Amino acid sequence: MPDQCSHLDQVDASATPSAAGCEDCLRVGGRWVHLRMCRTCGHIGCCDSSPAKHASGHATGGHPIVSSYEPGEDWWWCYVDEIALSVDLPDYSHP
Ligand SMILES: [Zn+2]
Ligand SMILES: [Zn+2]
Ligand SMILES: [Zn+2]
Repeated sequence: MPDQCSHLDQVDASATPSAAGCEDCLRVGGRWVHLRMCRTCGHIGCCDSSPAKHASGHATGGHPIVSSYEPGEDWWWCYVDEIALSVDLPDYSHP
């Protein structure tokens, strides 16, 4: 298990949230539990507690780093390394 993330170069500091909810669930009328934001492109996806797990599905497509999109949460996560990250970038949870 790595203790460092090697994907930080994929973070785009100018990425902004793509939708107010999981964009894949919104498209098909699905439900989610919690939201995660892709820090490469701004894709909003649902967490692994949600039925469709769109955030991890999106991560598998090559954008491994997300941050929480829940109000009051500002943690980051790398789905490939499975570690929490500490990144000093603006929090988009409260538009
Ligand atoms: Zn990583
Ligand atoms: Zn979803
Ligand atoms: Zn992405």
